[in-house]
Amino acid sequence: MSFKEQVLKSPVSRRRFLQASAAGGATTVIGVGMTLKEQKAIAQPQNDAAAQTKITKSICHQCPARCGIDVYTTNGRVHAIYGSTEHPIANGKLCPKGPLGAYILYDPDRFKGPMKRTNPKKGRNEDPKFVPISWDEALDIAAGRLNALRDKGESHRFSLIYGRGWGESCAGLQGTFGKLYGSPNVAIGHSSMCSDGSIKSKQATDGNASYNAHDYRNTNYLLLFGCGFLEAFRPYNYSMQMWGHMRSKSPKTRVTAVDVHINTTLAASDRALLIKPGTDGALALAIAHVILTEGLWDKAFVGDFEDGVNRFKTGQTIDPALFKEKWVKGLIEWWNLELKDRTPEWASEVTTIFTRDIRNTAIEFGSTRPAMALFERGVHTHSNGIYNGMAVHTLNALVGAFFAKGGMMYQMGPAYGPMPVSADDYMDGYAKDGPWKNFPRIDLKGEKEGYLLANNMLQDVGPNSLAGNPYKLDTAMFYLSNPVWTAPNGKVWEEALKEVFVIDTSPFPGETAMMADLILPDHTYLERLQDAPSYPFEGYPLTQLRVPAVTPLYDTKYYGDTLIEIGKRIKGPMGEYYKQLKDTENVLRHLAKGFEKNPGDNGVNDFESWKEKGVWYKKPYFWQQRDGVFYEWDGKDYATVMSEEEVKSKLFKTPSGKFEIRSGWLESQVDWIAEKTGRDPSKLMFPIWEEPKHPGGGDLYMVTPKVALHAEGRGANLPVAISLLQPTMGGRDQVYIEIHPETAKQRNINDGDQVKLKSDVGEIKGYVRLYEGVRPDTLVFPMEHGHWAHGRWAKGREPGHSGEITVNQSDRITGQANYYSTKVTIEKV
Ligand code: SF4
Repeated sequence: MSFKEQVLKSPVSRRRFLQASAAGGATTVIGVGMTLKEQKAIAQPQNDAAAQTKITKSICHQCPARCGIDVYTTNGRVHAIYGSTEHPIANGKLCPKGPLGAYILYDPDRFKGPMKRTNPKKGRNEDPKFVPISWDEALDIAAGRLNALRDKGESHRFSLIYGRGWGESCAGLQGTFGKLYGSPNVAIGHSSMCSDGSIKSKQATDGNASYNAHDYRNTNYLLLFGCGFLEAFRPYNYSMQMWGHMRSKSPKTRVTAVDVHINTTLAASDRALLIKPGTDGALALAIAHVILTEGLWDKAFVGDFEDGVNRFKTGQTIDPALFKEKWVKGLIEWWNLELKDRTPEWASEVTTIFTRDIRNTAIEFGSTRPAMALFERGVHTHSNGIYNGMAVHTLNALVGAFFAKGGMMYQMGPAYGPMPVSADDYMDGYAKDGPWKNFPRIDLKGEKEGYLLANNMLQDVGPNSLAGNPYKLDTAMFYLSNPVWTAPNGKVWEEALKEVFVIDTSPFPGETAMMADLILPDHTYLERLQDAPSYPFEGYPLTQLRVPAVTPLYDTKYYGDTLIEIGKRIKGPMGEYYKQLKDTENVLRHLAKGFEKNPGDNGVNDFESWKEKGVWYKKPYFWQQRDGVFYEWDGKDYATVMSEEEVKSKLFKTPSGKFEIRSGWLESQVDWIAEKTGRDPSKLMFPIWEEPKHPGGGDLYMVTPKVALHAEGRGANLPVAISLLQPTMGGRDQVYIEIHPETAKQRNINDGDQVKLKSDVGEIKGYVRLYEGVRPDTLVFPMEHGHWAHGRWAKGREPGHSGEITVNQSDRITGQANYYSTKVTIEKV
């Protein structure tokens, strides 16, 4: 019997064989792995009078919001997904992506089992010619490479790269894996290609390297800087619910939104400010200037002049001894060095926003309590991102928003129990002191010659490996990460991965998977048992359990278990550790033991009740700041006054224990920053104005926001998500590049024309739509399209992918990839 005849014998094997043949883009089989009959069988619920309908409480995984879902299955097939009414984030609601989970589960282009590559040539036009193999063979191949590297003393050449994994039972296992195996490159997260610019701006000022939680219910003013609150601000479903609440309560929460085009958020706000890309920091400085000169700052939180006389006068310096700072550090120095001249008139020149709008926004924001200023990628994905972010975040200090009712705080973690075994007991000599200790991380994170202060530099892993600087990777494994497509100028990654043994754990045939040598496919989220601690939302601790709604459709394996199974095959005590760990269910059962002492408000007190309800949470948030005094929850109320030391250890984790306008974190590396960036060492620790750098060689800014149906790339192969992708410029099955009519006219471009966008690193094509809501100097289109793999609906859609023309430039301090910095040219095709 031939190999083909053998695999065609069983239905699952047959599908895997066909899918393997087609995954690389070959068109030799019907529907990439399934006959029409098979596809219909998957798509149709069975007409069975005795059908059993079951509801599984689980957690959505299409974005970091992690909404609770009720998954309805009948005879083992998912037919509906609703928001769980008992879940604090979902509240019975979902965003438009939430009900689409079944499309992900039944995606006909999914990988259906482990496979290995048989075509040694790699590239976007090469069919990998994957062939199915058993899990044993696949795991042996992966572990064999890792053992061989360790035997040669080259374990540093193995890297594990991950994206959206926050659970202790998936990404949480990776640090231990790296520690026991011995590689500085296990694991490298995607945060520098996400929002490290935001996190690091917060680390620099309030000492918390994290996203904020928010008390939207009680806020009366939102100042939104480039954060797409109604498009992509997280947790998205919750943000939309809170928008409804804020905009209908009395008093209504007023909103000023700042962006480069009229998106859904700006259209729904009270004031829309169209800003020149990369200049949000200038606007924030001018708002701060007005708040101070008008005497609107929160004196109980910030402090005041000893005699109560306001000495903030434009252009005039102040004696710092006259001002008594309370919970901020460096206000008067900042004023003297930077802020005294940052008037609305000055900012108007920089940002192109009218002076009166800047002044009115500042007066409204400064005189409304509670108020918050939020920001994301529009602010910090620029070369000056750290300063833009610090300037916006300082506005929150000026109005006393930190830990206040109606303000912002930081998310508490869940009360997990300890892991089943301690990794420290399984460290061999190699893990403790092997040659790998002499090597830097491949991305030069933490290195003086690289990015000393960054969390990660994922965008540089591919380029560095290709250049052999500091060395070449031998083997790279990917979890929920597709940098060949998502990295700026991802073509460099394509070249880099041609010479690396690539292991991809994605369930989907994405671009990085097409470069893979080994596919170890994960379950989709409706098939997984996985913990999912909350993304920051209301601050109190909350963690969730993703409970499988169906038995896995195919021969896939949860990534956490794949990692444990590889670990079991590593020689020495490391293998023993993973045998003791057993599997992810065992890990989760041990984590849930923490709930025995800390039962959740919904009665969850062990693994079984967690599994039944899908979520553990415990209100309230522990801390509150009122009128410049910090209180801790005493069991009944926020009544226990906190000392300065307690505030420092629990809330403002800065060197001074205060909100640092003069950043102690930046000051601690002042020489390095000054040497690498050429910045003034006397000013670089303050929120300062700095012109952004715009590489690319073009004359128009290119901004590629996330939109509601973006789904972090996981919606790329869902036709319904694609059809709804562009909220303001929608079309039928077509996403447009937004261009201002005047800009188009100057270039002889008409509505609907096909155009070419070019930068120094490449060119893409797409169709334009004339839109008066976009700045004349800026082109806007969502970053979702332009896949060259990822499935039948994802592939080949225009406009081309923005990453192909985005220059790989990063903020030297935060490591943030500058996705919105590149300037491009546009011309009619
Ligand atoms: S907001 Fe995110 S987690 Fe919630 S339903 Fe939408 S995609 Fe799912």
